[in-house]
Amino acid sequence: MITGSTDVKTFEISEEKSIYAFSQGMKPVIAVPDGSRLIIKTQDAFGNQLRTLEDKLDGIDWNRVNPASGPIFIEGAEPGDALEIKIEKIEVPEQGVMMVDRSFGALKARFDRMYFKIFSIRDGDIIFDDKLSIPIRPMIGVIGVAPKEGSFNTGTPNSHGGNMDTNLIAAGATLFLPVSEKGALLAMGDGHAVMGDGEICGTGVEVATTITLIVKVRKDFKINNPVLDNGENLVTIASAKTLDEASVMAASDMADILAARLPLDMQNVNYLMSAIGNLQVSQIVDPLMTARFSMPKAPLAQAYGFKF
Ligand code: CA
Repeated sequence: MITGSTDVKTFEISEEKSIYAFSQGMKPVIAVPDGSRLIIKTQDAFGNQLRTLEDKLDGIDWNRVNPASGPIFIEGAEPGDALEIKIEKIEVPEQGVMMVDRSFGALKARFDRMYFKIFSIRDGDIIFDDKLSIPIRPMIGVIGVAPKEGSFNTGTPNSHGGNMDTNLIAAGATLFLPVSEKGALLAMGDGHAVMGDGEICGTGVEVATTITLIVKVRKDFKINNPVLDNGENLVTIASAKTLDEASVMAASDMADILAARLPLDMQNVNYLMSAIGNLQVSQIVDPLMTARFSMPKAPLAQAYGFKF
């Protein structure tokens, strides 16, 4: 433990202990008090196995893909609570890697085999080539807790979070996950230096990360799926077999949240969501698709004193 200047306790979690599936009964690597600040190191999605052009694709151990650092037991978290995760900072190293293959990604039919490319990251920019630099927008691809039932490999998103590949899960945002097991059992990895909506090639610019965040147990707040607040928008995140199903789930979760907090009936909630809310695609390349519904908070706060 590191003692900071405030009374928030800080804990460091190494990337050496990782899980490859979110399940009930996972063995925590550490137990931390409610309200702690965590500094979590994560491996990249390939388990840091592609670092130079000399690394061979046929040398990759695919059992080491999508490692998530943790799990972390948060004291006081009980099934039915929400875990609030306030992301303060995501630090990335000086390079990242992308991959395409004939077996994944929206354009998989265009490729006959697997390729990868390493990109340098300098002064906050990804050097795409000698003409184009892309500003980094670091995000967390995999973040989740123990699921209600079953086991989900870390490549799959669901109600527990997991591989949501949602680029809004970034510094400054607060993510809420439904707690299904005592201690929540939080784990995360699969950082991206940048990723567009859809993640169409199947990867972002994959990077190891150092993530700083604060965890808080919320007893006052019940959710079935992940919810995110980035200050400007409230966002429901849902994953399902098809993008259509995920879209309806995300919209339905938002409708429930708004109906419970606004002086509006479902008819008017629906009008309002359709008028100013935005249905968006997070990713279309994982075993389940992830969609989100984003609602601007300012008009709701102004008109109805909406708070979340
Ligand atoms: Ca991912």
